[in-house]
Formats: sequence, C-alpha cells, structure tokens
Amino acid sequence: MPMPPYQLYCTTKDCKHPATYKIAARWSDGVVSELKTYGLCCEECVATWFLRGRESFKKSRLIPGETLEQPGIYRLHRGERDQALQRLTDLEERLAAATNATL
Ligand SMILES: [Zn+2]
Repeated sequence: MPMPPYQLYCTTKDCKHPATYKIAARWSDGVVSELKTYGLCCEECVATWFLRGRESFKKSRLIPGETLEQPGIYRLHRGERDQALQRLTDLEERLAAATNATL
C-alpha cells in the first residue's frame, strides 16, 4: 500500500512527534507478501516500538506455508510504497545490542 500523502504521527499515546520510522516485518503466505506493521514512531520512541515488535514476533503463530521475518526498522517517506522503504539494519543492531546489555 502506498503511504498516505499526509503527515503521520508517532503511535505512542500522548507523543505528538511526527513519525519517522516504521517497525514492520515482511510476511508472506507463499503467494502474497506484505509488510506487517507493528507501529509508527518518532526518533525518541523507536527503541520501545522496536522491542514491542520483537516481542509480538516471538508470540506470532504462523500457519503452514506462512513466513514472517524478524521485525525491522524502516525509514518512513511520505508517498512511498512499502517496497521502497529503506531498512535501517545498523539502527536495529544498535538497539538490539543496547537492549541485551540492559537485560
Ligand atoms: Zn514518539
């Protein structure tokens, strides 16, 4: 689905920042493939939503034939299609490392 052309805001309750990231995982049933969105968030909330995405991922139940990748962080661009979103693996690795260090 193309991104709507208007401004999107962070999904965190009471956070008024524009969303700059999308936490999403690529899902497929073997025929259709799409990005399953866990949340849209701003710079400040990205760690929270990234962890939330990883938690939901661990709880996901897949039916045979379905595949779901680990949730990643994508940079949001207004008007761009999901397929064109840039995945920020560096940021994912940094957040994952920071989280493991505090556990
Ligand atoms: Zn926020």
